Amino acid sequence: MVKGTTSMGKHSRGYTHIRCRRCGRNSFNVAKGYCAACGFGRSRRIRRYSWQSKKVNKVRVI
Ligand SMILES: [Zn+2]
Repeated sequence: MVKGTTSMGKHSRGYTHIRCRRCGRNSFNVAKGYCAACGFGRSRRIRRYSWQSKKVNKVRVI
């Protein structure tokens, strides 16, 4: 055995996030009931920020 718990030792503890049915990402928190990526379950608007997308030639992409 090793000292402490290895990183694979935490893989059998169930899931925190499931696939979100609005944005499709694996970010819907089961316990809290909302999506960390799009805010589904928390707000009607899509959660989005300017820092999410990258600037190319000082123009924001998407
Ligand atoms: Zn989502």
